[in-house]
Amino acid sequence: MKQSFAATLHNKTTQSEKQVVARFKPGILVIQDDEQEFEWLPADIQSARLLNDGSAILQNGPWFLDVSDRAFSPALERHFGDKRLFRRSFFDRIGVMGCLLALLAGALPLIIVWLWVVPFVTERAVKKITPEMEQKIGDSWYQSLASDFQIDSARTRQVQQFCDAMHVGGVYPIRITVVREPVVNAFAVPGGHIVVFDSILGIMDAPEQLAGLLAHEAGHIQLRHSTRAVFRELSNQLFFSIVFGDFGSLSGIVARHGSQLAGLSYSRSLELEADAHGLALLKKAGIPPGGIPALFRKMQATTPSNPDVPNFLSTHPAMAERIGAVEKQIAGMPDAATTVSPALQELWQQIKR
Ligand SMILES: [Zn+2]
Repeated sequence: MKQSFAATLHNKTTQSEKQVVARFKPGILVIQDDEQEFEWLPADIQSARLLNDGSAILQNGPWFLDVSDRAFSPALERHFGDKRLFRRSFFDRIGVMGCLLALLAGALPLIIVWLWVVPFVTERAVKKITPEMEQKIGDSWYQSLASDFQIDSARTRQVQQFCDAMHVGGVYPIRITVVREPVVNAFAVPGGHIVVFDSILGIMDAPEQLAGLLAHEAGHIQLRHSTRAVFRELSNQLFFSIVFGDFGSLSGIVARHGSQLAGLSYSRSLELEADAHGLALLKKAGIPPGGIPALFRKMQATTPSNPDVPNFLSTHPAMAERIGAVEKQIAGMPDAATTVSPALQELWQQIKR
C-alpha cells in the first residue's frame, strides 16, 4: 500500500506554497519538506474536501494541503482509524449509476401508474358512468365534431325517421346525423349519436342494409364500445377528473379532443361483438338480418383507388372474417324476418329519392 504522497502545501497568510511529501505515522499525518516536518493530528484538520477529480484538500489554520493522488483520501481515513474526514456531495457518494438508479426508482411508480393504474381506473370509471353522463359526453364530442362536417339536414331527418321506425334504441336515444363525405363510413358516438357519411348511403341498394348499418352502430353504443374507446384514448387527461369524481369536467375534456376521437377505431373482437349485437337487434325488431353481410360485401367492393383515403374497411378490419361470422349466425336464425315492414320500405324510398 502506498505510504507517501506528493503534495502541495499552501499558506493562505503568506500566499506561498511549497512541494511536500505527505506520509503517515499511526494516527498522525506527517508533512515533510526538505527542511522540516509537520505533524497533523485528526483534531488539527479543520476541513477536508474531496474534489471531483479525486484530489483532496485539507485545511489546518492558514495551511492548505493539496494532494492530487486519489488514493490519498482513503489511505488517510484508514490511518485515522476509519474516521470519516471527507465530506462528499450526494452525487459523489452515489455516483452516476446511483443517480440513474435513483431516477429510475423515482420514475417507476409513475411508469406503473401510467401503464396499469390509469387504464384500470378508467375502465372501472366507464362501468360507473351513467347513460345520462355518456349522453353528456357524447353531446360535447358531437358538438366539437359537428363543426368539422357539412350536415345534410334533409337526409338526417329521413334517416332519423328510418332509425326511429326500427325501434332499436334501448336506453340510448339514437340521434342520426348524415354528413356529406366522400369516404364510405359511419361511426358511433357515446350515448347515442350515429354519424352516417352520405357515401355509404350511396352504395346501399336495399333498406335492410341501412338497417344493418344502424343496428351495428347501435351495437357499439349499447355495448359502450365508443365510451370505452373515448376513455381509453383520453385516459391520461381524464385520470384526475375520474380520481376526484369530477365528472362535470369530463365533457369539456372530451370536447377539446373531439378531432382526436373522430378517428377512433375498434379492435377486431369489438367489431365482431357489435355485429352480433346488431344481428340480435334486427331479429328482435323483425328486420331481415341479411342486410349486415350484404352491406359488408358492398363495402368490400368499394376499396378506394387512392390508398391514402381512409375508408370503412380500414377501421373495420378483416371484412371477410366478419362476413363469415355473421352469415354463420344468420344461418342459426331460421325464424328471422325475410322482408322489411312497409313503413321502413316507404322511408327507404324517400332516402333513395
Ligand atoms: Zn363498427
